[in-house]
Parts: sequence; structure tokens; C-alpha cells
Amino acid sequence: MLIFIDFDDVLFNTKHFKKELVGVFLKNGVSQKIFFETYYDYPIQTKKGLKKYDPWCQIKILKEKHNLKDKKLKRDLGKLFKNTKKFLFPDSEKFLKNFSKKDLILISYGETQFQEIKIKNGGISKHFSQIIIGDQDKAELIKKFLKNKKDKNIFLLEDFPLHINAVKQKLPQVKVIRIKRKEGRYSQLPSLEADFEAKNLKEAEGIIQNSNIKQ
Ligand SMILES: [Mg+2]
Repeated sequence: MLIFIDFDDVLFNTKHFKKELVGVFLKNGVSQKIFFETYYDYPIQTKKGLKKYDPWCQIKILKEKHNLKDKKLKRDLGKLFKNTKKFLFPDSEKFLKNFSKKDLILISYGETQFQEIKIKNGGISKHFSQIIIGDQDKAELIKKFLKNKKDKNIFLLEDFPLHINAVKQKLPQVKVIRIKRKEGRYSQLPSLEADFEAKNLKEAEGIIQNSNIKQ
């Protein structure tokens, strides 16, 4: 068995984290308007043409365009990033502990230092046999692991429609469990039909255990 698990909005309450991130900028004199104007105002793009967020790039722009003093802001952000564990969903660790490390692969989109820090400081790296942070759609990333095509127990736990669609179209052998948490930022967006849907990881765990029994 192999279980690929997405990070943002699946294991990690990104909405809550982002709210606190914006709060740090506001506290340091950046208005909400300017924060969102400069959010993606720098040329980091992935091969798919999607934008990636990087707070240090944003600060650079704020310095150049808006004359921002960045010393305290950087210090405050450092504090926020130091312990991202508090943004994990309450059921995340419990889920990870119930599977063996060799079966778990973390698969996250957006190769930036920011993404690495968020994951590393969340304290859950020890549960995974591999951590993949990549800029390709997840079908491309997962494909590399599917040497044994006969393995019927391959799951992806994902919330974002683009990746759900890519995997549904390109890798029909992977069972996609769409995670639709009430706190998820993309729970309302349409996607191709996933194999299963779960409101949280407890439900996802039940789905996985059930499918394994049926094999
Ligand atoms: Mg996600």
C-alpha cells in the first residue's frame, strides 16, 4: 500500500495560518490593500504557470515599492514560522500514527523555502518515508513511484481540484480521496469526481481500511 498525502488544507490548516501571516504584516504597518497587491507581485511561477507564494519576495517588493522597514517584520515572521505545529489539524497526527511510515508519502505542491519551513517546523516529517515538494502536477510526481503497476492499494488524499483532475485523468489506478474539510479553502470548488470524499482524516482512514479489507 502507498498513501500520498497533500499538506495544505489536508494536514495543515492553511486558512488559519494565512490569517496569522496577514496579521503579522498588518501589525508591522502594511495595509490589507497593499498586502494583497504585493502578495503575488514577483515572478515565481511553476512550470504549470501557477503562482507560488514567498513571503521574503513579498517583503523585498514592499521594501522597494513602499519603503517598508523590514527588520521587525522579518523577526515576527520568524516567530510565526518557528512553530507551525499549532496549525496542524487535530486529527492529522493521529491519522499518520495509524499507518506505517513505509506507506506514507507527503506530496506537496510549490517548491519554495517557505513551503519547506512550513512542513519541517510542523514536526510531522518523521511519519513519512518520503517528502516530495514539487512544481509539477501531482500525477507527474506520483507516476515516478508507480513501478509496481499491480499494486491496487494506492491512495491520494488531496483537496485541490487541479491535482485531483490530473490524477483522475492520468493515473486511473490511484484512488483519490478528496478531502473536503469545512476549514478547507477549496472545498467548494468543482473537480472531476473523486473515488471517495471525506470531511476529515478520520473518515479518510475508514475509507482506506475498508478498501483494503475488500481486496
Ligand atoms: Mg492542498
